[in-house]
Amino acid sequence: MVKKIDPATAIQNLQHFGEFGGVNPSITDSATFTFLTEDSMIDAFHGEAEGCFLYSRHWNPSNKYLADALATMEGTESAWVTASGMAAITTAILQLCNSGDHIVTSVTTYGGTFAFLKNYLKKFNIGVTFVNITDIESVKNAIQPNTKVLYTESVTNPMLQISDLPVLANITRDKGIKLVVDNTFTPMIISPFVLGADIVVYSMTKFINGKNDCIAGAICSSNDFINAISDVNSGTAMLLGPVLDPLRSSSILKNMATLHIRMQKHSENAQFMAEKFEEMGLKFIYPGIPSHPQYGLMTNLMNDGFGYGGIIAIDVETAERAALLMEIMQERGVGYHAVSLGYFKTLFSNSGKSTSSEVPVEIQKEMGLSPGLVRFSMGLDHDVENTFELFKSCLIDLKYI
Ligand code: PLP
Repeated sequence: MVKKIDPATAIQNLQHFGEFGGVNPSITDSATFTFLTEDSMIDAFHGEAEGCFLYSRHWNPSNKYLADALATMEGTESAWVTASGMAAITTAILQLCNSGDHIVTSVTTYGGTFAFLKNYLKKFNIGVTFVNITDIESVKNAIQPNTKVLYTESVTNPMLQISDLPVLANITRDKGIKLVVDNTFTPMIISPFVLGADIVVYSMTKFINGKNDCIAGAICSSNDFINAISDVNSGTAMLLGPVLDPLRSSSILKNMATLHIRMQKHSENAQFMAEKFEEMGLKFIYPGIPSHPQYGLMTNLMNDGFGYGGIIAIDVETAERAALLMEIMQERGVGYHAVSLGYFKTLFSNSGKSTSSEVPVEIQKEMGLSPGLVRFSMGLDHDVENTFELFKSCLIDLKYI
């Protein structure tokens, strides 16, 4: 039995008061900070001024409140907030790898991550081997003497494979390399750090913020790693500067307080749809249904009370049928034909043509990504039965059922 935590109560228990006793922390919209003495400024540059803020590309109090809430949720010592999910992923990887190093990664990842690993890292002579993350032997065999990172997503985008994090963490610990996990699909549901990951990255654009009103990301890890990325001389975050705006941090922090309720509802609605799809004999992927090959693993890994997640994928076999289906679904009000996920409205897109379009078609085929795979991020619909009926009427109109 793996360790489970209660991230919702941990966040609920946080006490942050504003400058005048406000129930929300005050927003610090300052780029720079004053020092009373020259000595204390010199100390701050040497990283020896605990509790002092220097410059907001480095740290800002509003960013710190949000980072502390994220660390609390993940069970990590620390966190740092970035201007996008891609900023979190690229900062973590560029901090860990030098020219000549090597990364082993799940072939199924968000398309932007895939493109960064496959195309961009070549500039730095960093080699990458892509593996099926559910095939533990192939993960082990891919590790080379110069491997520095094993990269995966807890629940992969868009195939919804489950990464066996405790097993992967045993391998990385044994080999002395870092396990970096993107937990964007499953905040609160899965706690990768507690399960053995070294670094957890997020696109907060998605469920964590949940409002689709901004792009944001986060890196959660040990004090040592967060200090390393924010070091004034050698930190990737400090030197490349992908910091989140503090005004935005303050709004995301407030949205985190409702994350547990939203995750429960997203999961409940996705579970409802999955059960209906199963009854109808449709081809679909959802880890909350016993017919998913890793249902048992997911059940074992997840924290109690947040369900199996809000993402479900249906395979209507051809891109043409998927296009027609999505157009009718938007017209009927099932949701919006848009990329991204974790919004209060249902969002759907054809993964192979959109968020995984960076993955060459032959690799899409190899990983089993059907050209007709439509990924749904289920919204917070109050009447999901009605949503399902609308969806069914679209399939009937298409003569698919
Ligand atoms: N990770 C996953 C799993 C994603 O789905 C996405 C975006 O779709 C990202 C990372 C990138 O995040 P952002 O768009 O915030 O840079």
